[in-house]
Amino acid sequence: MTKAAVFTGASDALEIWDIDVAAPKAGEVKVRLAASGVCHSDLSILNGTIPMAPPMVLGHEGAGIVEEIGPGVTLVQPGDHVVISWVPQCGKCYCCDRGQPELCEAGAGTMMSGGMLDGTKRFSRNSTEIGQMAASGTFTEYTVIPEISAVKIDNDLPLDKMCLIGCGVLTGAGAAINTAQVGPGDTVAVIGCGGVGLNTIQGARIAGAERIIAVDMVASKLKLAEQFGATDTVNAANGDPVAAVQALTGTGPLGPRGVDYAFEVVGSSVTAEQAMSMTRRGGTMIMVGVGRVDDTLKDFSLFGELFMGAKTIKGSVYGSANVHRDVLRFAGLYRQGKLLLDELISKTIKLEEVNQAFADIQNGEVARSVILY
Ligand SMILES: [Zn+2]
Ligand SMILES: [Zn+2]
Repeated sequence: MTKAAVFTGASDALEIWDIDVAAPKAGEVKVRLAASGVCHSDLSILNGTIPMAPPMVLGHEGAGIVEEIGPGVTLVQPGDHVVISWVPQCGKCYCCDRGQPELCEAGAGTMMSGGMLDGTKRFSRNSTEIGQMAASGTFTEYTVIPEISAVKIDNDLPLDKMCLIGCGVLTGAGAAINTAQVGPGDTVAVIGCGGVGLNTIQGARIAGAERIIAVDMVASKLKLAEQFGATDTVNAANGDPVAAVQALTGTGPLGPRGVDYAFEVVGSSVTAEQAMSMTRRGGTMIMVGVGRVDDTLKDFSLFGELFMGAKTIKGSVYGSANVHRDVLRFAGLYRQGKLLLDELISKTIKLEEVNQAFADIQNGEVARSVILY
């Protein structure tokens, strides 16, 4: 038995259930969670933005200690401390072979199924099967995950901070470092300064960006953005953010220039179009936010943006992360004091308080709430 926060489909809140956890099968491990961040994508499943079938244990930003291993597991042992990846990266499919493990074909199917790599489920209640978000399901004391989703870290690293690497850091900082490949001297704009956007900002800082312009409508988030490395801030509540960013990036003979890289970290066509407009000719717009299935770009000129502008649009899934390389890389940056994690945590909460954490996300009040088990 374990206590879990479950998306039931019958309510607009998660319900706390006592559920059964099966033993790990071949190639799987059981993890006793130490901590789980509450991410906007958990809320997006609850409110239908990301379509997933209930019942499902949500949560995908976790860290814990391996409790038990299934047959054939070689990557970790009981007692190992691990960060959980929400894309199981198989290392041998078409995309993994091409250096794009974030698109792992085995992982993508598993994420949508709510089960393990073989499609079956490990959680249940009264013989009803319960799925788990993205082969992780971290809103529970115990979970079973594919061995390849468990990334071993040094035992002295604090698990209540390391959990944030599992989604917010890989997704946000990864978008700057891996997807965009921001370099020294570059100019960057980041629209949306929540848990992921703050990580995009610190990723750009770590990559050596000269100018990092943070855009949000909440003054307290812009204040945090400065702590994470923003050199300038634009409060979009006070006027057109595109004009404000262009005013900061100079004007040439053809008009206002814009930034080398504009990151959309909200998940809306409105801000995506703003990000396109903030991007300079020859620059790149990176879509990090998770938008609705039916939301599409409309104000997008083939001549102006793509031909004369020669702009690139890049989608970014999981910060183009190779989790087995990048979790360790970010843990090392934390040790060096370059990656801020403690500062991301606005609140630590109990599992039962998860719905309040969602309310805080919607009110724009927190960077991250972290559940401690
Ligand atoms: Zn997330
Ligand atoms: Zn793969």
